[in-house]
Amino acid sequence: MSKFDYDLFVIGAGSGGVRGARMAAATGIRVGIAEGRRVGGTCVLRGCVPKKLLVYAAHFAHDFEDAAAYGWRLRPPTHEWAHLIAAKNQETDRLNGIYVNLLKNAGVEIHEGYASFIDSHTLNVGGKKITSERILIASGARPFVPEIPGREYSITSDEALDLMSRPERIVIVGAGYIAVEFAGIFAELGSEVTLLVRSQLLRGFDRDIAGELEAALERSGVKLVFGGEVSGIYKDDKEYTVETSEGRAIKTDLVMFAAGRDPNIEGMGLENIGVELKSGRAIEVDEFSQTSVENVYAIGDVTDRMALTPVAIHEAMCFVDTVYKDRRRSPNYEFVPTAVFSQPPIGTVGLDEEAAIKKFGKVDVYTSRFRPMKHTLTKRDHFSFMKLIVHPESDKVIGCHMIGDDAAEIAQGMGIALKIGATKADFDATIGIHPTAAEEFVTMREKRVPKEES
Ligand code: NDP
Repeated sequence: MSKFDYDLFVIGAGSGGVRGARMAAATGIRVGIAEGRRVGGTCVLRGCVPKKLLVYAAHFAHDFEDAAAYGWRLRPPTHEWAHLIAAKNQETDRLNGIYVNLLKNAGVEIHEGYASFIDSHTLNVGGKKITSERILIASGARPFVPEIPGREYSITSDEALDLMSRPERIVIVGAGYIAVEFAGIFAELGSEVTLLVRSQLLRGFDRDIAGELEAALERSGVKLVFGGEVSGIYKDDKEYTVETSEGRAIKTDLVMFAAGRDPNIEGMGLENIGVELKSGRAIEVDEFSQTSVENVYAIGDVTDRMALTPVAIHEAMCFVDTVYKDRRRSPNYEFVPTAVFSQPPIGTVGLDEEAAIKKFGKVDVYTSRFRPMKHTLTKRDHFSFMKLIVHPESDKVIGCHMIGDDAAEIAQGMGIALKIGATKADFDATIGIHPTAAEEFVTMREKRVPKEES
C-alpha cells in the first residue's frame, strides 16, 4: 500500500485536468482532483462553449435580414439579452453536472478548494492536507488586465459572458481571438463596438486573412482604433472615458480587456518546491509535460505552450500514456487546426505566408475570394477568402487558411489532409462537392503572382 493518499492528484478540473484524471483512474490507480471554482473549467464554463452559444445568437441578426431575400416576411425581430444569458447558464450548468459525473463514474475523488504545495508530495486543498505520489498541475489561465488607473471598472471575457444587459457602447482592448470574437458578438447584437488594436489585428495569423477580417469588421460597423495602449479608465455618473497612450479619449458604457491570459500559478506555493518557470509566468515542462520537480507534471494553459482546449486534452492523454501506460509519447504541435469564431469565422491550419517564407524562402500561394452563393440573392457585402500555401519542391500543402461561413468546420478536414502530408497534386486530384465553398480548396489552379513581380 502506497504511503500517499493518492497515486495521482490533479490540480484544476478544466478540460485537461478532467481528461488526465479520468484516463489515469481508468488504469486502476487512485486519483483525486482539486477545483477552486466549478468543475468544467474555462472552456466549458467561461470560454469556448458559452462564447460559441453567444456567437450563434449573434448570427441570427444577419439570418433574419437575409431571409427576406428568400421570400420570408418577418416582423422586425427583437433580442432579449437576459434570456440568452439565462439559457446559456442552463447549458453550462448541465455541462458542469456532466463533468462532475464523468469524474465520479471514473472513481476520481473531487476536492473543492484551491490547492497549494507544502512540499512536492503534499498539498493544502482548502485547508485539508493531501498527499500524492505524483501531482499534475492543470490550473489553466485567467484574463490579463494591465495595472492602470481605473482597471477595476473594466471587465474581461469572464464577466462579459454573464452581463445582465447588453451595453449600448463597448470598448474592447486587444486584437486576438477573444477580442475579435466578442467584437462580433456585441456588434451583431446591436452594440456600438470600438476595438483598440495595439499593433495588428490577429497577430500571428495570415495577413491576408487578418486583412479580410478587418474589412469585414469595419463593414459591420466595428470601429478599429490602431496604436497605443490604454493608459487609464475614468468614470463619471453616466459613462466611462478610456484614455490611451496616444492621447485619445473614448467615451463608452463598458470596457472589456481581451489582452491575453496569464497562467494560473498565483498562490500555488510553487516556490515551496522550486518548480522552474518560463519567463517567470508559466510552468516550464519538458516534452513529456514533466516539470523540473520529478514527480510534478503540468499540462494545458498553465504551461503556455498552445492555449487550446483540444491541445490540453492531447497533452493529458500523452501524460497518461507516458506515465501510466508505458507508452512514452510527447504532444505533437504540428498542423494543429484552429478557428476564430469571429463574424465571419476563420479556420486555419499550418503556416501563414510570412512564416512559410521565413522557413522555406519561397512558397507557392493560391487564393480565392468570392461572394458565397447564399449572398448572391441577399446582395450582402460578405465574402469568403481561401488561401493555400505550398512548398514548391515537395508540393506539400503547408498552410491552409479560410475566412468565411463554415471556415471552422472546413478547417477540421483540412487539418487531416495537412497532417498526413497531402500535396497540392492530391488536392487537385480530389473531386469537389458542388456547390460548396469548400470545393474552392480543390479547384484553385492559378498560382498567385508573387508580390514583388505583380
Ligand atoms: P491573444 O494572445 O490571442 O491576444 C492578445 C491581444 O491583446 C493581442 O492583440 C495583443 O496585442 C493585445 N494586448 C496585449 N497586451 C495589451 C495591452 N497592454 N494593451 C492593449 N492590447 C494588448 O489573447 P486572447 O486573450 O485573445 O486569447 C488568449 C488565448 O486563448 C489565445 O491565445 C487562444 O489560444 C485562446 N483562445 C482560443 C479561442 C479559439 O480557439 N477560438 C478563443 C479564445 C481564446 P499585440 O498583438 O500587440 O501583442
